[in-house]
Amino acid sequence: MMQIGDYRLHSLDLQDFALDGGSMFGVVPKVMWEKLTPSDELNRVMLKTRGLLISGNGRHILVDTGMGTAWSQKLRSIYRLSDFRLETELANHGLTPEDITDVIYTHLHFDHLGGAFRPAGDGLEPVFTGARHYVQKENYISARHPNLKEKVSYSAAFVDAFSRLSEVELLDGPAELFGGIEVLVSNGHTRGQQLVRISDGVRTLVHGGDLVPSSAHLPLPWVMGFDVEPLTQIDEKTALLIRMHEQGELLFFAHDPFNEAALLRRDEKGAIVADRFFTV
Ligand SMILES: [Zn+2]
Repeated sequence: MMQIGDYRLHSLDLQDFALDGGSMFGVVPKVMWEKLTPSDELNRVMLKTRGLLISGNGRHILVDTGMGTAWSQKLRSIYRLSDFRLETELANHGLTPEDITDVIYTHLHFDHLGGAFRPAGDGLEPVFTGARHYVQKENYISARHPNLKEKVSYSAAFVDAFSRLSEVELLDGPAELFGGIEVLVSNGHTRGQQLVRISDGVRTLVHGGDLVPSSAHLPLPWVMGFDVEPLTQIDEKTALLIRMHEQGELLFFAHDPFNEAALLRRDEKGAIVADRFFTV
């Protein structure tokens, strides 16, 4: 648990999954990335989908929802998908999915959106029945009309189900959603990704979304093969990490298999690296 202003923050260990190591680290050779993150016999790196629960001022806000349960046996095996632990993780804090008042999506790729739905009949039904849902309008448009590179990442079934939710807010750029909780926009990983920044003016935590998905992605040129604009991703990551290091802000990792959050420092060569890791 971490307290920032009126809010209590909790990292939720929603699910484990795996993605191809080459895709996760773009042009970085395996001999380099495998020192930082383990891979299996099929070259897949183990990842988590971590949710961030922000409670306070009468709200229970969830950032991102994991992959969820609506997956075929074949895809579960391809992604090494674990059970979905949403209900037990929320129960640890005395909550059920119905208690969630707001869901902020960094973006609508399947590993951030899928947990918002569960199978019902031959379709999907919403999990967070009492919530309002927030995404950038530009990201929603990308998800509805995906380019060929991202088509596999924007599952049409989940995006269709999202479009049928009644309480959706399409945001038009950076915004303060609640006192002390704002979203920042970045476009390198996908168009209209939003990072969530929680601050009381003294202590600040930034959810790194898929701009910095794990501590192994701190080296500036180490970006993912999935990114739609790798050079934009590098520029955005550089600006974010320099500012966060200067301001002493905590960075939350949505996909790191081991580390929930870190404070940053510069090493002897001037590179920004993790200084200390924190649990949230
Ligand atoms: Zn992701």
